[in-house]
Amino acid sequence: MKIGIVTSEAVPFVKSGGLADIAGTLFNVYHTEENEIYLFMPMYKTIKNIPSGLKIEENIAIQIGSQEIEGQILSKEIEKGKTLVLIKQDRYFGRNSLYGTKQGDYPDNAERFGYFSLAVLKAIDIMGINIDILHLNDWQTGLIPLFIKDKRLNIKTLFTIHNLGYQGNFPQGILDLLHIDRKYFSPAKIEFYNSVSFLKSGIVYSDFISTVSPTYAKEIRTKKYGVGMEEILNTRKNFLIGILNGIDYSLWNPETDQLIYKNYSINTVKDKEENKIKLGEEFNFDVKGKPLYGLVGRLAEQKGIDILVDALNSILNENIRVIILGTGEKALEDALVELQKQHHNKLKALIKFDEATAHKIYAASDFFMMPSQYEPCGLGQLISLKYGTLPIVRETGGLKDTVDDYNEYTHCGNGISFSEYCSDDFLGAMQRAKKIYSNEKLYKQLQQNAMQCDFSWKKSADIYMKLFKQILQGK
Ligand code: ADP
Repeated sequence: MKIGIVTSEAVPFVKSGGLADIAGTLFNVYHTEENEIYLFMPMYKTIKNIPSGLKIEENIAIQIGSQEIEGQILSKEIEKGKTLVLIKQDRYFGRNSLYGTKQGDYPDNAERFGYFSLAVLKAIDIMGINIDILHLNDWQTGLIPLFIKDKRLNIKTLFTIHNLGYQGNFPQGILDLLHIDRKYFSPAKIEFYNSVSFLKSGIVYSDFISTVSPTYAKEIRTKKYGVGMEEILNTRKNFLIGILNGIDYSLWNPETDQLIYKNYSINTVKDKEENKIKLGEEFNFDVKGKPLYGLVGRLAEQKGIDILVDALNSILNENIRVIILGTGEKALEDALVELQKQHHNKLKALIKFDEATAHKIYAASDFFMMPSQYEPCGLGQLISLKYGTLPIVRETGGLKDTVDDYNEYTHCGNGISFSEYCSDDFLGAMQRAKKIYSNEKLYKQLQQNAMQCDFSWKKSADIYMKLFKQILQGK
């Protein structure tokens, strides 16, 4: 099969969140003897780890409004059957961030990713790749299925929703800029409350839709979680599937992780303690003998940072330690920094994006907090499980599918969960965690349960492959 992954980010090249982890991993796991894989991405200014010997396939010009916008298609076959294709257009992608600044999204994001989408189809044509199926990811690629239908191209598409909260809804002017026929602008098509919705275009025109966990696939068809898209998703419910993300255990494994202080395995889990002590030393933090709660993630409303701040306000009066690494909404960053001032020897709030510190926190913490409002899949809890760091999560989306609440009667479970989105319930879960920590035998048992879980990509990749075959057979 010839498979093209189209994404706005992918590790190891550029990352702002989980999408990058997933797209980068799929690029590796789809690559088998039977498959030829292409990864299409914008050539950002901040891109890293680009293989040497990128070749210019062709200079292109794409009509945006009345202008011909020039760009380049660059490519490199990294390994046999595994090719990276980059769309270079410096006015759009030669910027310091991927999507926007602290002040907000770039105002021309519709034009940037519209250009990218058209350029990907041009690249496929120019490079003469007979792509069988395009695996498209999130709103940035949502127009591609429409362009394919409009141009009657013989390419099948799977459109994956990584987060329904980001929809790419833009003013109607984008129709003219991208030369999209007005016939597509209706509520059954790409119109969304008077705007043009790139995400909706992906939902309506792709051959199949997936999202990143079975529970989220159900949730997004309800009013509570559907962010206005529930109706259109329900019309396509027979073409919607939830496939759980995995993680790449060659990058996330405490036995081999080069970024943590001391490696450990399920059999040498006592060495995890050294990671905690060293993290305490690095951040000037007395952690010995106290439960350490970690968090690594975007500081966004979605992630439950508001109930976290409330819960911390209470629990920081107790003998616990908390370390948080994240960037995001200014008000939430400020709230955490303010809380740190009041509890500077108990709370560290590191407002930055830092891969190495993230690894250290996963390895050093006793518990990992994800009190999300909603969580399509979530990677933090999967990484934590592997590192023997018990996740404390709200029962939603992928968190619900991967974390089993400790049951004090059966002693089963790999973490702690709570159901209502409110700070009291989250606080209750943190307190249960503290109690578990005080019972060393129980804590060690749950750690073993956690580390035994297998959320590697193998299972999910097999499901994607089966799905691709079914889509190609028109089943
Ligand atoms: P989302 O994609 O919604 O942001 P996920 O849980 O799916 O959330 O994935 C987040 C990924 O980004 C994880 O790999 C996490 O470790 C990483 N990450 C998030 N914030 C930071 C940060 N400030 N520094 C380092 N890594 C981060």
